[in-house]
Amino acid sequence: MRAETLAIHAGNLYNISTQDVTPPINLSTTFLRNAEGGYSGGHMYSRVSNPNRSALENIISELEKGAEACALSSGNTAGMTVFQALKPGSHILAPDDMYWGFKKQLQTIFADTLEIDFIDMTDVEGIKKHIKTNTVMIWTETPSNPLLKITDIAAIAEISKANGLVLACDSTFASPCLQNPILLGADLVMHSSTKYIGGHSDVLGGILVTAEKNELWEKIRNIQQIGGAVPSPFDCFLLIRSIKTLAYRMRGHCENGMALALYLEKHPAVETVYYPGLPGHPGHETAKKQMSSFGGMLSILVKGDAEEARKVVNKVKLFAQATSLGGVESLIEHRASVEGPDTKTPQNLIRISVGLEHIDDLIDDFEQALA
Ligand SMILES: *Cc1c(COP(=O)(O)O)cnc(C)c1O
Repeated sequence: MRAETLAIHAGNLYNISTQDVTPPINLSTTFLRNAEGGYSGGHMYSRVSNPNRSALENIISELEKGAEACALSSGNTAGMTVFQALKPGSHILAPDDMYWGFKKQLQTIFADTLEIDFIDMTDVEGIKKHIKTNTVMIWTETPSNPLLKITDIAAIAEISKANGLVLACDSTFASPCLQNPILLGADLVMHSSTKYIGGHSDVLGGILVTAEKNELWEKIRNIQQIGGAVPSPFDCFLLIRSIKTLAYRMRGHCENGMALALYLEKHPAVETVYYPGLPGHPGHETAKKQMSSFGGMLSILVKGDAEEARKVVNKVKLFAQATSLGGVESLIEHRASVEGPDTKTPQNLIRISVGLEHIDDLIDDFEQALA
């Protein structure tokens, strides 16, 4: 089935005993044992599993064409769960343009336990020379944050497989509707479900999906169940509700993203537009090959310095000046000032999460802000 249908029917959500069309929120933390000591309802204690979380995991796993999914309390927890599952002393390759929070985790929390090289993942051949005897994983992120770099997942999967490594992909910017890394050879997919999957800026969540149930996945599941950084039943309910419209929201985000990118590209006050849908974007051909459309995230460099960029961010009216992305409302952010003094993000860069407002209103807003 296609994403639109799966989003509504995956996970077999109808409740047989009460005939609910929409599943209820199961707040019970514990579940009855039967006379034999087993659990006829399939759940024992809600940190280990509960009906809402299992449903969410099944839906996402189906959407991502995986074997199983694991829902966590935030995107950051999802990344951290993977890094925690690696043996101390392991070497991992991570992208130079990596989600800032993961870079921070690796450089602080895992500084003493993991060896990390941040490399250019768009240089596929160059990746090989960074592989060492203790390398266990290649972590990719595509499209990347905030430069919208595109990584060729299938090409890296070949290198990863040839060297016996795990290939993980942070696919947050794409959502499960625009690309399925497992079909391209990735072993693990990660999403911050706070973003497009949630889509309404009102729930935090993270998801991991595995291509196969193996030893690493068992460790990840253990960290979820015994570590306990799990989403609440209500969080899972909200995410399931959001997923039903995900495919249609993504169409709107992509349509508006493309139109705004084309408008900004021609504007004399704009130096560069980073959007993989533009033919001039260095990752455009790869994006065309591995994504069904180009998403709703773009970054621009305005002509001038940080001051100029902040002026624009303060002048737009419809774009809320806030961090995060993937919601129905458009957001805008001067990224370097969020990331702090040691950031490599250009000072004149503005990151835009294009929402679902009418595109003409969004363009009018930029027209007045850039004037
Ligand atoms: C937001 C984000 C994360 C972290 O997710 P949280 O839900 O905020 O913890 C990870 N990767 C990417 C690409 C993100 O945009």
